[in-house]
Amino acid sequence: MKKVLADRTGKIDASGIRKVFALAASLKDPVNFSIGQPDFDVPRPLKDEAIKAIEAGQNKYSQTAGDSLLREKIAGQVKNEFGWSNPATLVASGVSGALLLAFMALINPGDEVIMPDPYFVIYKHIINMLGGKCVFVDSYPDFKLPVDGINRSVTAKTKLIILNSPCNPTGVVYSEEQIKVLAETAAEKDILVMTDEIYEKFCYDGNCPSIANYYDKVLLLRGFSKSYAMAGWRLAYVAAHESLADLVEEMTKIQQYTFVCAPTPFQKAAIAALDYDISDLVDAYRKKRDLIYEGLGDKFELVKPEGAFYAFVKAPGGSATQFVEKAIANNVLIIPGEVFSEKDTHFRLSYATSDEKIERGIEILRRLA
Ligand code: PMP
Repeated sequence: MKKVLADRTGKIDASGIRKVFALAASLKDPVNFSIGQPDFDVPRPLKDEAIKAIEAGQNKYSQTAGDSLLREKIAGQVKNEFGWSNPATLVASGVSGALLLAFMALINPGDEVIMPDPYFVIYKHIINMLGGKCVFVDSYPDFKLPVDGINRSVTAKTKLIILNSPCNPTGVVYSEEQIKVLAETAAEKDILVMTDEIYEKFCYDGNCPSIANYYDKVLLLRGFSKSYAMAGWRLAYVAAHESLADLVEEMTKIQQYTFVCAPTPFQKAAIAALDYDISDLVDAYRKKRDLIYEGLGDKFELVKPEGAFYAFVKAPGGSATQFVEKAIANNVLIIPGEVFSEKDTHFRLSYATSDEKIERGIEILRRLA
């Protein structure tokens, strides 16, 4: 096979997650804490919008950059939020799609991309595939934004800094103060920041500040997969200050030759989604967060998650991989931290499941601690 495969395939390693799924295949009715999507369904009115669009024949390609009404709505919202007068926008096939477009438009071989460790897994693999170099800045044990470490990591080759708050896998939300300091550092060194805010709505203790409020050289990525449980609909958007219009234009060109456009009828539903209030669902997720933190906080080393639907828990006994194997043998699916990190000390737990399953999972994990 090696003969036919491109060298870049050797730069992608999916072994960590695969191992969990392979072990999981044999389980009956497990407590599944490995899932990265909400356990609720797309809200009824948004499903109706998608069905209406399909029935009305909105099934052809949209414009490459996205449905014009949807882009207008996105532009209006980011204008209000960040005071950008003429934002650049692009509708993408999920934040994953937007990430691929952004990295393809930005990364030359040898370029350095700085990100806090732990990090969302896709970043590392696409950057490696494109010949870029990930520069990881350790944020253990509290997972606060490691502003000093990021500052020290900047070199002449730094192309980009990536932020993800609320964070997958830690559930940590960066404070306004930390974000402001990072914005100053980035401005001083004139570096582009990409902010992945796919979990912006899952914010439990006050607001989740965005660096786009403090710095203009920011590529903002937001998605519909988590907020409206539309992960299978493949929808997200990119927005940026008008000074980054050329970058968004290049990403749009790459979209033209790759994804072509995001799914058309779902873009119509996304227009309604942008006005749809999910605070009830977020309240329910806050309760799940409390269940997890109260259920595990005294037995495990665990930073209280303030957003998303993950907790990043220190594995008792040192090796997270070994603890994960033990948990899976006891019918609880969790993901070893090394999937999201250069370290193998923690495991990621997703509490996007029923309260009953959460309670069962807590009981089993406490027994294994
Ligand atoms: N960014 C983060 C931090 C995520 O957790 C995910 C999904 N797990 C994505 C991006 C990609 O989401 P999607 O492609 O469904 O929009």
